[in-house]
Amino acid sequence: MREIRFRALIYCATCGEHGFQHWVWNGQQFIEDGISRPCQCPLKCEMDGKIQQYTGLEDKNGKSIYEGDIVDYQEKKWVVEFDDGEVLVWWLDCGEHKCGSELNRCDTDYYQVIGSIHENPELLGE
Ligand SMILES: [Zn+2]
Repeated sequence: MREIRFRALIYCATCGEHGFQHWVWNGQQFIEDGISRPCQCPLKCEMDGKIQQYTGLEDKNGKSIYEGDIVDYQEKKWVVEFDDGEVLVWWLDCGEHKCGSELNRCDTDYYQVIGSIHENPELLGE
């Protein structure tokens, strides 16, 4: 069974850099599972309420794929989304239409996480 993990985007109000707070489900409750702070500023990072779930899949570099991640696949950029337990990817440069498909679990060796919709909004704008 897929490990149940969530992460929340955190940001530093001083310098604006982003990081993540992680939680994992231990069968009874969610427990904190580390924080990746973006900077060394003295003030604590803030959370902005955007929670993302782990897909249970890793990209070609062994990086965990979360919903909201932007992945490179076949030289295109895709956004990862959960829908009813399925992991979907949406092609970013599709134009007016929403072109998506189920993420190909046999093909994760070819996916590479290049950012997320919250950390890298500039990737969405192209
Ligand atoms: Zn900072």
